[in-house]
Amino acid sequence: ATSDAAPKESEDNLRSPICCIMGHVDTGKTKLLDCIRGTNVQGGEAGGITQQIGATYFPAENIRERTKELKADVKLKVPGLLVIDTPGHESFTNLRSRGSGLCDIAVLVVDIMHGLEPQTIESLNLLKMRNTKFIVALNKVDRLYGWKTCHNAPIEKAMKQQSRDVKKQFETQLVQIITQFKEQGLNTELNNMDKEMRETYRIVPTSAISGEGIPDLLLVLTKLTEKTMVENLTYRNEVQCTVLEVKVIEGLGTTIDVVLGPIVTSIRALLTPHPMNELRVKGTYQNHRAIKGAQGIKITASGLEHAIAGAALYVVGPHDDLEEVKETAMGDMKSVLSRIDKSGEGVCVQASTLGSLETLLEFLKTPEVNIPVRGISIGTVHKKDVMKASVMLEKKKEFATILAFDVKVTPEAWKLADDLGVKIFMADIIYHLFDQFKGYINNLKEEKKNESADEAVFPSVIKILPNSVFNKKDPILLGVDVLEGILKVGTPICIPQRDFIPIGRIASIKNNHRPVDTAKKGMKVSIKIVGTNPDEQQKMYGRHFGIEDELVSHISRRSIDALKANYRDELSNDEWKLVVKLKKLFEIL
Ligand code: GDP
Repeated sequence: ATSDAAPKESEDNLRSPICCIMGHVDTGKTKLLDCIRGTNVQGGEAGGITQQIGATYFPAENIRERTKELKADVKLKVPGLLVIDTPGHESFTNLRSRGSGLCDIAVLVVDIMHGLEPQTIESLNLLKMRNTKFIVALNKVDRLYGWKTCHNAPIEKAMKQQSRDVKKQFETQLVQIITQFKEQGLNTELNNMDKEMRETYRIVPTSAISGEGIPDLLLVLTKLTEKTMVENLTYRNEVQCTVLEVKVIEGLGTTIDVVLGPIVTSIRALLTPHPMNELRVKGTYQNHRAIKGAQGIKITASGLEHAIAGAALYVVGPHDDLEEVKETAMGDMKSVLSRIDKSGEGVCVQASTLGSLETLLEFLKTPEVNIPVRGISIGTVHKKDVMKASVMLEKKKEFATILAFDVKVTPEAWKLADDLGVKIFMADIIYHLFDQFKGYINNLKEEKKNESADEAVFPSVIKILPNSVFNKKDPILLGVDVLEGILKVGTPICIPQRDFIPIGRIASIKNNHRPVDTAKKGMKVSIKIVGTNPDEQQKMYGRHFGIEDELVSHISRRSIDALKANYRDELSNDEWKLVVKLKKLFEIL
């Protein structure tokens, strides 16, 4: 889809930079986009702005017009600015090409009243990961108490109109937010048009409602891309293209089976919507023979029902080796597939696009997180995905889980998951998915522990202290010395020296008259032992056992298994050694 002759790579031949808007929910991303789109520009004049597929194009002329109050009457070198229409990190992660981001610059929107929020930080991490330059739009300045509206004014001009109190509020919020950025390892400063761009990130105060600071935002955006990206923004004769969205036209069904293979097809049509004024004519597109980047376009071709959002698109030229191109196209897929756990054990992961799936998998692989993945999928969670995840129910219940990132779950899938016991966690912040899953795992562990609390027997050897038999039976009350291991409330006790005669369960332990759950080796405590079987007479001190006997935890094969399964981390090496010793004593094989 390149144009005619090979264009020169030079400053005079810059392509339009691609810009993404990111930030926490409700910070005003959509409003800001509306605002720079000029839907609130007086007179409703669109000024050459064109609506594209998934993006809006601002010609340099329009940007110049809207920033002229800033007296930055410099000739813009880029032909315009292409702003992606869907704000949020989904489109950002999706705009990728050969492992790097296709997005040239981003606007990170921060609500001046709220400061940095979870998704702000997540966006920040994504931007850092992809090495993408960005500007901070400190939005909703009009929410400062007492703000005087100055429609679409440059921020300095608007600030001059404000009272001392408003200025003070602004300063306080700004300083706080700069500190929060610092905590994230970023140096930010308030944008100043007269100052040279330094190695800091610029903060531009804006209001997406009344338009203050929008000229500044537009100017900084274009200036910054021009300055730092002259090389990247020059036209190449090479096509870089990402599938933004796969739209299923109604009537053709709504499910898409993802085929993990390259699709080879010929372009039937390159489409863009009609210019602004003709946009009302629904469903009609302009046909093009060739299109020059950067642009959002619609492509029709056969076989695209198997396409997935976020995948790269390659053009096969007359001199290209089709097999080689196919190989390259599969590269992205392979990087995703290579993150699936070879053991076949792990959770299922589902995301809206290849890009977000890749980001999520990257995150799950990091050592601090380390959640194995056995299956991946793109798009809405359906019944078949739940079936796939349910395979783990038998092997490892905690992995019978779907981590759904930014995708929907059909009601049928929810129902099936409920019936089968498959867990589905949904979030649009990666860290939240992780938190939910970790919380669930910990709960399961607790549950299992509680279930097996009666079965697991901690190892202990105790000795009755001299003159410390306070009651001989019903219940037995003794002062004891813990010779080895851990004594726990609930532990069944027996006397190995006398044919392992069981004498009951520890009902309570007191250390210096204070009740405790456990007593460790070396502690001297008083214990209450009650009979295990209510129908049976309790064994009695002096008749069934005496001062010379050692009392030992009554372990069994089952109790050892329960201990290993759920309390492995709670036992020290010495305590495990005692388990082995008792095992021999009890002749458990
Ligand atoms: P998004 O979730 O980040 O896309 O946020 P929206 O653009 O949907 O805005 C969320 C809410 O904040 C809406 O009610 C907007 O009207 C409001 N809002 C957005 N920008 C501004 C602003 O600059 N000033 C004020 N006062 N409200 C704003």
